[in-house]
Amino acid sequence: MYDVKRLRGEFPVLSTCIYLDSASTSQTPRRAVEAMCAYFYEYAANHGRGSHHLARRTTTEFERTREVLARFLGVGPETLVFVRNTTEAINLVAAGLAWERGDEVVTTALEHHANLLPWMNLEKRGVRTVVVPHHGGRIDPADVGSALTERTRLVAVTHMTNVLGTVQPVEEVADLAHERDVPVLLDAAQSVGHIPVDVGKFDFVAIPGHKGLLGPQGTGVLYAADLSLLSPCCFGGGIVEEVTLGGFSLLPPPARFEAGTPNIPGVIGLGAAIGLVEELGVENIHRHEATLAGLAHDGLFALPGVEVYSPRGSPVISFSVRGMSPHACAAELDRRRGICVRSGFHCAQPLAASLHPEGTVRASLGCYTTEEEVRTFVGTVEEIANDHEQLGSILDL
Ligand code: PLP
Repeated sequence: MYDVKRLRGEFPVLSTCIYLDSASTSQTPRRAVEAMCAYFYEYAANHGRGSHHLARRTTTEFERTREVLARFLGVGPETLVFVRNTTEAINLVAAGLAWERGDEVVTTALEHHANLLPWMNLEKRGVRTVVVPHHGGRIDPADVGSALTERTRLVAVTHMTNVLGTVQPVEEVADLAHERDVPVLLDAAQSVGHIPVDVGKFDFVAIPGHKGLLGPQGTGVLYAADLSLLSPCCFGGGIVEEVTLGGFSLLPPPARFEAGTPNIPGVIGLGAAIGLVEELGVENIHRHEATLAGLAHDGLFALPGVEVYSPRGSPVISFSVRGMSPHACAAELDRRRGICVRSGFHCAQPLAASLHPEGTVRASLGCYTTEEEVRTFVGTVEEIANDHEQLGSILDL
């Protein structure tokens, strides 16, 4: 039984607002905050660099999160590199693969800038970005198949878009690419923790710690089936076996990709947060979010003057109030009922601008969202749309 009322005890901030911006970043549960406090109050030290007892405990707790994450994702801990966020995970692949002039990356018109700009930026190294179209928010694997050429070095695709919440047929895409020996990078920013993800199906998976996994900001992870395909792009302490003035030898992966002091408290907090996601169960979270998403969609869809862009059941709901700027609508939702939503292009301008020239209002649900919150949200959009229409007719007089 999914007990959302009890779950909300883990998130004190939720008693102060209606938080519908989880696609951007999630709220952090009490147990993760407490784990971070314990680090600071009881044993803060650097990771892997000391023999004193604080450093030993820090290293143990930090590495425990790698184990927790590995178990959660169903992969080996040696395949996981801690990074700051999804963006850094994708950039690590873009910077770390051995590109040659004329290589091609196949991606889609649905992508967040994080899964578009790193590839476009390779143009200066002679790498071409090939963008496959979408059809109403979904890509057709056949389009990806026809975009593959002898020069394709990577397919980089989102699992769930952060504008429409549509889930892409990424396993079929992976099968097609793998038939041609092309590795696949999955941008799982919106899927991990919200829907089941078969991480081992892909060559690289970029995962935020601070969204569906409920961890603190500044945490993320790159999964790579074979980290030897990548060269590190950040050098310094913590990644070397031996250094002389004539050269250095690197530690095996994943350590060689984690130069410098990492976000130790964040990673420790992430480990605790994943414990909560495991307790809830991803299937149950998905069911809960999909039910509320259906309710929100039906409510908004019935409102005259409101255009809904996301399909029914998607936990990321993009919409607009006709004739009203998305920013004005988002500000009104906040002013009237403390409802926190996003507005604009959502860092996915090609897709969001194709829906509305100023982008959309986006309400995104989390494991802690309640039915009551969804009803208040829909009711407030209705008020705003009515007031906007009345104002419009007064101005027309
Ligand atoms: N990819 C998608 C689909 C996203 O939704 C986001 C953020 O919202 C990102 C990438 C970037 O994530 P991060 O902020 O963790 O770098």
